[in-house]
Amino acid sequence: MRAFAEIDLGAIASNVRKIKSQTEAEVLAVVKADAYGHGLWPVANTAIEAGATWLGVALLEEAIKLRTHGLSAPIIAWLTPLHENFEEAINLNIDLSVPSLAHLRAISVAGEKLKTRPRVHIELDTGMTRGGLLLEWSEFLNEIKDAPVEVVGLWTHFARADEPESDFTEAQLAEFMERLDELNKVGINPKYIHTANSAAIQSRKVAHKNMVRLGISMYGLSPDINFMGSSEKLGLKPAMTLKSEIHLVKEVPANSAVGYGGTAKTKERTKLAIITLGYSDGIPRNTSDKAGVFVAGKRAPIIGRVSMDQFVVDLGIDSVAQSGDIAEVFGPNGYSIDEWASAAGTINYEIVTRISPRVPRIYR
Ligand SMILES: *Cc1c(COP(=O)(O)O)cnc(C)c1O
Repeated sequence: MRAFAEIDLGAIASNVRKIKSQTEAEVLAVVKADAYGHGLWPVANTAIEAGATWLGVALLEEAIKLRTHGLSAPIIAWLTPLHENFEEAINLNIDLSVPSLAHLRAISVAGEKLKTRPRVHIELDTGMTRGGLLLEWSEFLNEIKDAPVEVVGLWTHFARADEPESDFTEAQLAEFMERLDELNKVGINPKYIHTANSAAIQSRKVAHKNMVRLGISMYGLSPDINFMGSSEKLGLKPAMTLKSEIHLVKEVPANSAVGYGGTAKTKERTKLAIITLGYSDGIPRNTSDKAGVFVAGKRAPIIGRVSMDQFVVDLGIDSVAQSGDIAEVFGPNGYSIDEWASAAGTINYEIVTRISPRVPRIYR
């Protein structure tokens, strides 16, 4: 196989159990974006078996896929523009997020058509300044009292929970608790109160409330390697290993300009290997000359530009690697996902989620 991503479902289960041991709250497994590139259905199933009781996705179509795969756990979809098919969501027992008055009204209308009270989670903007109710809050309070919906949850999202030194998260939480109080005063008492993402789960017990939304750490990755430390430090096991078969190994003379633009030259006579993955597979092009692969027992750095379907690594003249060998692009032996992220000037979230559907996922 020319390239594949090995997904260690045992690692996912172990990460869920690890987080469960750190909280009394229910765990909602975040499986948006094809489970951060790891595969929606296998990851959702594994998370539930390991003790997560809820699933969370961004898009309605992701929630619908989970239901049509037969998952019966409660599911929330939190990024549903006004013209999404709310009736289908309600029919499939998918909880919806309410980030505005307009959403409340549209979801209420869909529920009335179906003669049922849609299950909703009210989203507050407490400082992220993205989704959620902000200046509409008083008007919303007035309307929610008599709205034909079942308020299952109240939630918010943190902007800076990965910064243990910052007091911004505490300010968001204080704001959140005030709004909860106001909601209670108009007679609405949501069963689920949820605020914490992975960073807050690992750094602020006070934010756990009775449900936590576990994303990146379930995949074994640190929410922020600078502020929170590596996967190992957090006791997490990265679940994705990316591998590729070497298309070709060949010797080239010193001073050969490699790839488009001839941006890099071999320093001496050496062996190069062509790796059958490129930017169309999700290898960031700006990692040229920075990251690399692990093959035949050692690291081989990228030389020259990453192309659409391939990139070239410098094996060194003594390498025993051969055409047809499997190279580890990222994984436990060579370059980590975090090293690729740093080479690309981005975060580990982006490295795993951008591995394209053209790369098959193999489950272990
Ligand atoms: C993606 C997401 C999460 C999970 O965040 P991590 O940092 O990956 O743990 C939690 N809540 C919401 C609303 C999200 O969009």
